[in-house]
Parts: sequence; structure tokens; C-alpha cells
Amino acid sequence: MKLGLVIDLDTCVGCNACAVACKQWNTSGTTGLLTDFEPYGKDSTGVWFNRIRNYEVGDYPNSKTVHFPMSCMHCDDAACVTVCPTGASYKRELDREDGVMKKCTLCVDRIYDENLPEDERKPACVMTCPSHARYFGDFDDPNSEVSIISRERNGEQLMPELGYQPVNKYLSPREKKNVGTYVNETNSIKAVKDWVNRLVTR
Ligand code: SF4
Ligand code: SF4
Ligand code: SF4
Repeated sequence: MKLGLVIDLDTCVGCNACAVACKQWNTSGTTGLLTDFEPYGKDSTGVWFNRIRNYEVGDYPNSKTVHFPMSCMHCDDAACVTVCPTGASYKRELDREDGVMKKCTLCVDRIYDENLPEDERKPACVMTCPSHARYFGDFDDPNSEVSIISRERNGEQLMPELGYQPVNKYLSPREKKNVGTYVNETNSIKAVKDWVNRLVTR
């Protein structure tokens, strides 16, 4: 059995709900507390097993924002005791209060909990994602949802060149259609802009 996540970068809207659900579940679960330091201060920090990065790809007006959730990738051949080579989980998260390293557990205390209804034995992040951008399952089973969607959408590992064999897979954003850009500019604003442009290009 090879359990892991598939994350669809095409439908992720960067809402951070998965990160919050992860924090909430795990801080009160077997790996908790996940401590925070100065959470409302300028240099706030804390333990988050899942974080969302946001990137602007391409040039305006054909640019696209890509939201990139990152957690531990559950590498087959991991070298993460000291440093996470993918950079994906920013090393394991050091809990300064407990003095130990912690990371995504795939919510073991949910997925094996027989007290939960079967359809809820999934990670908290998967359960909570409003755009269904997260999938969980067994990559060793060719008929599992994660295997099927990875095959169909060409699921990719993050930084495979490092050789650590991350189990989690990402689905790339689809090509988006270019749409015309309408600029509502009155003649007088345009005249001022033209004048400024002429001035600065002298
Ligand atoms: S992503 Fe891989 S190397 Fe990094 S913490 Fe997870 S298992 Fe270890
Ligand atoms: S699987 Fe569980 S521990 Fe891992 S990122 Fe999702 S909610 Fe967090
Ligand atoms: S909850 Fe879903 S849509 Fe929101 S950031 Fe996480 S993966 Fe993306």
C-alpha cells in the first residue's frame, strides 16, 4: 500500500481551508499541539504541516495565479532527517515548544479510525477542500481514485530529479483561454498618459 495525496493545481483556489483544517485537526490530535509563536506579531511563526504558496505565471494580460499547497510528499526514498530535499515541506516542521520534528501524517488518526463513517476516513485537508482539489488514496491500487486521476491528468512528482521519489502528485493547471482586455480609459486620461510617456522617454 502506498498512501498519498493528489493535488489539482487547476482547481485549487488558494483559500487556505486545507491548511487551517490540517492545523485544527492535528493540533488537537495525536501529533498536537502544533504551537504558534507571536501569531499576531510581525514575525509570526508556528507549525503548519500544510502551507499554500501563490505564484504569478506568465505576463499580463495572459498571466495566471497558481496556488500551490505544499506538505510532506511522503517520499519513498526520503532523506529528510536533517533537510527536506524537495523544499516542499520546508524541512519537517520543528516544534520549538516540544523540541521535536513533526510533519504531515496523512491524518493516520482519521484514516484508520473505525468509529468514523467510512466516507469520512480521509485526511482533514481532503475533507475540507471546497473545490475538491485534493484526493487521497492508495497509489499501489491501479483502480483507486488517485491512480486513475494521476494517469488521466498526467500527475507529476515535485522535483523528481532529486531521486527521493515523492508519493504525492500534482495535476498541472490547464491552459487557459486568452480573453480580450477592455481598458476603460477616457480621452482626457489617455491624453495625460501620452503626455507623461512622451516626457519620460525624452
Ligand atoms: S517531502 Fe520527502 S524529504 Fe521532505 S519531509 Fe517529506 S518525506 Fe521527508
Ligand atoms: S493529510 Fe492530514 S496532516 Fe497531512 S496535510 Fe492533510 S490534514 Fe495535514
Ligand atoms: S482547501 Fe483546496 S482550494 Fe483551498 S487552498 Fe487547499 S487545496 Fe486549494
